[in-house]
Amino acid sequence: MTNLQGIAASSGIAIAKVYRLEAPDLSYSKKDIDQPEQEIKRLHDALDVSKSELEKIKEHTKNTLGDEHAEIFSAHLLVLSDPELIKPIEDKIKAENVNAEAGLDETANMFIDMFKNMDNEYMRERAADIHDVTKRVMAHLLNVTFPDPALINEEVVIVADDLTPSDTAQLNKQYVKGFTTDIGGRTSHSAIMARSLEIPAVVGTKDVTSKAPKDSLIIVDGINGDVIIEPTEEQVNDYKQKQEDFEQKKKEWAKLKDEPTVTAEGDHVELAANIGTPQDVDGVLNNGGEGVGLYRTEFLYMGKSQLPTEEEQFDSYSTVLKQMGDKPVVVRTLDIGGDKELDYLDLPDEMNPFLGYRAIRLCLERDDIFRVQLRALLRASVHGNLKIMFPMIATLDEFRQAKAILDEEKEKLVNEGKEVSETIEVGMMVEIPATAVIARQFAKEVDFFSIGTNDLIQYTMAADRMNERVSYLYQPYNPAILNLINNVIEAAHAEGKWAGMCGEMAGDEIAIPILLSLGLDEFSMSATSILPARTQIRTLSKEDWISYKDELLSKGTSDEVVDFVKEKTQSR
Ligand code: PEP
Ligand code: MG
Repeated sequence: MTNLQGIAASSGIAIAKVYRLEAPDLSYSKKDIDQPEQEIKRLHDALDVSKSELEKIKEHTKNTLGDEHAEIFSAHLLVLSDPELIKPIEDKIKAENVNAEAGLDETANMFIDMFKNMDNEYMRERAADIHDVTKRVMAHLLNVTFPDPALINEEVVIVADDLTPSDTAQLNKQYVKGFTTDIGGRTSHSAIMARSLEIPAVVGTKDVTSKAPKDSLIIVDGINGDVIIEPTEEQVNDYKQKQEDFEQKKKEWAKLKDEPTVTAEGDHVELAANIGTPQDVDGVLNNGGEGVGLYRTEFLYMGKSQLPTEEEQFDSYSTVLKQMGDKPVVVRTLDIGGDKELDYLDLPDEMNPFLGYRAIRLCLERDDIFRVQLRALLRASVHGNLKIMFPMIATLDEFRQAKAILDEEKEKLVNEGKEVSETIEVGMMVEIPATAVIARQFAKEVDFFSIGTNDLIQYTMAADRMNERVSYLYQPYNPAILNLINNVIEAAHAEGKWAGMCGEMAGDEIAIPILLSLGLDEFSMSATSILPARTQIRTLSKEDWISYKDELLSKGTSDEVVDFVKEKTQSR
């Protein structure tokens, strides 16, 4: 039995056997052979298995994430059947009398190098496709397992160094009972996605991959952040009990699904949800969400081989807006960069991706990409209650430029005779400290703020949100953060605007009374946090908490803030 402590990233308890998700060793030796026909047959067998796997993954992705995401696998399937790739591999095997591994690898690399350096974006995308699919074919030639989370068909807990957002998107909830990783924090995007998929997760354990043998039993406690490898029978029984208690609690919370979110005195605050895809909307409504406070549109752009078209985007945005009816839907424009990459844009590697070329910085330069998204959003606006916000704004100039482009696209659409809503609010994320400090100046020009604490905390504390080694500095309750948040809310209210929060802090049990005290208007969180938050808010007196505001803001440390909140919540 081994106990590890990590960061509780998605609540719930999982007990199942370990499935190790790791990159396979694809090294091979080049061999001279004398029966090329046999090698060609091995090649075709490997191609056939790869094709049938990709068909299954495509089908699975279509069902869970929709057609657009499944498209990348259609592109991969095309590569595997393309005679212009397969024939040269066969020729090489025959002409040079080499084994299938060498024929595949050398031919694929030749095409990848050729396509990668072309000016044409389409050809560069093909290089990425060839790279992806040949890895799978190679694994089959070498008889090594190629891990495919989408193809898992028994109950497991995934153990990995890290999970990319696209790995996470492939997880099938029916079989994947939980996951645990060496690296990552509560606000890394795989953790955020685990919460929308309602899969228990513990991240940042530092060394679960070196401690958890394949197929051994493992417990992941996503409520407290514990991971137990090869537990005793007694521990298994204890955790089964905890699992049942958690299910029981969920039933209690569910009773508030259609109730309003009110404080003890009956003051209403809005509880909205964060989503990544239109498929997440069901979870929002099932958990009693009063709106969507953050639609992370970048997932539309990820796990694909090319940019989504205006029509594809229009479909996704309209679907969400229609499903939400008259409830507000805050859509954030593309926030790519940081831990969210787009292979097909071929962006240069950066020393500090979280401080680099991302989000609005990229959109203002690549306004061809930005304008397509804005047009799709503006056209979809007639289907519901749309609000648009820009991510990673650092300066007022950036906000003005983004807004000007939006206005231009709106005017163009109107001139083309297209219908666009006249009541779209346009706001911004406050996630860079510079904007929180001078929120008063911004408040005059925006319709609303949404505070992105996931980034605001990492930039204010200079502590990478993905790095578990500095996670002790990633302090949501640090008085520096609370004072910045207060500044933003006060600035908004002084200008008659509203302030929401869409960072993970908005759904945090300790933070909720503090945010109520600071006067936050809208709390947007993972859908699964909504009902526990509603339950909690009904016990809190807003009046009392407002009276604690000055004391909270003048505390010296995060621990002092936490102690104060615990004392006040327990004394009720
Ligand atoms: C944030 O930074 O708080 C936020 C909500 O955006 P993301 O987590 O997508 O960076
Ligand atoms: Mg952010």
